[in-house]
Amino acid sequence: DLPTVAIVGRPNVGKSTLFNRLIGRKLALVDDRPGVTRDRREGDVQFGGLAFRIIDTAGLEEADEDSLTGRMRMQTEAAILAADVVLFVIDARAGVLPADQPFAELVRRSGVQVILIANKAEGGGGLAGAYDAFRLGLGDPIPFSAEHGEGLGELHEALRDAL
Ligand code: GDP
Ligand code: MG
Repeated sequence: DLPTVAIVGRPNVGKSTLFNRLIGRKLALVDDRPGVTRDRREGDVQFGGLAFRIIDTAGLEEADEDSLTGRMRMQTEAAILAADVVLFVIDARAGVLPADQPFAELVRRSGVQVILIANKAEGGGGLAGAYDAFRLGLGDPIPFSAEHGEGLGELHEALRDAL
């Protein structure tokens, strides 16, 4: 069985963009079954010699940006429980917001290995937000841009160590 990596974070931080970035051309293999799994997408990733299963969390509830609703919480908890490693994503340009905290709390409580990704930091932007991320207590943030493919080397290194 492949190790499992779950992408976790509040809505709109770029989780699905990261998911697509890692899936790359294998996008067609993403599970998008209607019903229970409609908002939980999974796929197999080959990433520089690393092979793992990846889970993207949340979908339908992403319209609601300010609360961790019951369904989103359950889905996030299930993904964390299934994961060998969690990629915890924040928006480096926004910094750490109150809405990040309940997600971070779920990850901390689980005791699962976590890699902290300060996304939307392309071109060296969002550095303050990346520093801000230290106070989540989830380790050193990796400045990253899912949209522009920056930080992939550091992410690869972190995943290689964690898997
Ligand atoms: P999710 O709700 O966490 O899955 O976030 P999405 O992947 O849907 O992205 C939310 C928004 O952030 C979209 O408009 C993306 O285009 C944008 N976004 C994602 N990654 C980046 C990034 O690296 N840089 C910038 N500037 N925007 C990004
Ligand atoms: Mg998404």
